[in-house]
Amino acid sequence: MKSPVESWVYQPEYEKMPRNKLLSLQEERLKKIVCYCYENIPVYKRKFKEVGITPDDIKTLNDMEKIPFTTKEDLRTAYPYGMLAVEISEVLELHASSGTTGHPTTCAYTKNDLETWSKAMARIYASAGTKKGDIVHNAYGYGLFTGGLGFHYGALEIGAAVLPIAAGNTERQIRLAKEYGTTILACTPSYAAYLGEFAKEKMTIDPLEELKWKSGLFGAEAWSEELRGKIEEILGLEAFDIYGLSEVIGPGVSVECSEHCGLHVYEDYFIPEIINPATGEKLGKGETGELVLTTLVREATPVLRFRTGDLTSFTREECTCGRTMGRMARILGRADDMFKVRGVKMWPTTVEHALLQVKGASQNYQILLERQEQLDCMTVQVEPEKELFESMGQDLSKLRELSLKIAESIRTMIGVNANVVLVPYNSLPRFEGKARRITDKRGLGIF
Ligand SMILES: [Zn+2]
Repeated sequence: MKSPVESWVYQPEYEKMPRNKLLSLQEERLKKIVCYCYENIPVYKRKFKEVGITPDDIKTLNDMEKIPFTTKEDLRTAYPYGMLAVEISEVLELHASSGTTGHPTTCAYTKNDLETWSKAMARIYASAGTKKGDIVHNAYGYGLFTGGLGFHYGALEIGAAVLPIAAGNTERQIRLAKEYGTTILACTPSYAAYLGEFAKEKMTIDPLEELKWKSGLFGAEAWSEELRGKIEEILGLEAFDIYGLSEVIGPGVSVECSEHCGLHVYEDYFIPEIINPATGEKLGKGETGELVLTTLVREATPVLRFRTGDLTSFTREECTCGRTMGRMARILGRADDMFKVRGVKMWPTTVEHALLQVKGASQNYQILLERQEQLDCMTVQVEPEKELFESMGQDLSKLRELSLKIAESIRTMIGVNANVVLVPYNSLPRFEGKARRITDKRGLGIF
């Protein structure tokens, strides 16, 4: 990166609220939302009945554990309007999010919900140093996916200009970034890396010299610290990890501050919990488990103890930035992306982290899973970095040396043997939205 941005706090009255005040605010909002869900969403009345509780049993934050979880399956079953707590006439925006299974869930917003969302996104922009006068290059998809509109509303709230370019047409992305002088980049991290690569290779534009991006807000997929380094190097910006999901708000749950040591969760809007995904038990401080979120102010489609399926940890240790809101760790992996190789659980980011330890390996890789003689077999195809690839020529010994180093790094860091195949530079697919890294040919239902 060229230099760190001037990060600032959009709503210090909330983001820096003394912890005891924040806890009372959470408690007051929790009691309110529990009654609200119970009265307005029959699914919750039924769930409460099943475990023998009423809203009166929820008096303090410690009573949270009595509340039954909400799962993606609950939301799918209730599709299209079963989780709606207001009349449809109160709804201003509807999003249908379809998971990997293709069954949609509904996320609706009232006027107040859109305001909350805009404020949450404005806090995120402020963390990344965005001000009036900035031009946001919004390359998240506009449409039913909440990324595009969430980043759009946040920019308007801050008073920054927004270029609603959406994903795709990479050549035009770079051209407009240069011509308009866009300053803040918002997209998936894999697309950010590709934008840099494309500018240099295909358009002979050096992003460090010719583009004005000073910070980037990257999310919607898990990514590694090593990829952050690559993106910052190639684009010259400061990269911020963001987290969110449609079921609770869209983007806008949490973001890193300039310390880059975890993502501050907006605890006045959400109560985060970490549970053991197998038993549902609440885990202690700093332990890694599944993130569960309760929305405290959502009106149209509130959720109580929603199981996100995403793995992380949470800490309330003080942060030097002065925000009092707790921090979640970078997402280890989205539940949907988790896979097992010979019993070892991992995510594409686990592999990315291991391979990017090796000098000369690029961030362009694909994972192929097969079964050979009843055993899992993982092949990782990796492109070497361009300069290295060109300097290697036909020197097979150098290529072999690099692939052995990558295989060794995967073995030591993950504990599995992988076949590493180096492929020519620019031969693997690039992605405009969420990257798809895995091809699983083992057949469904075996694991
Ligand atoms: Zn901080």
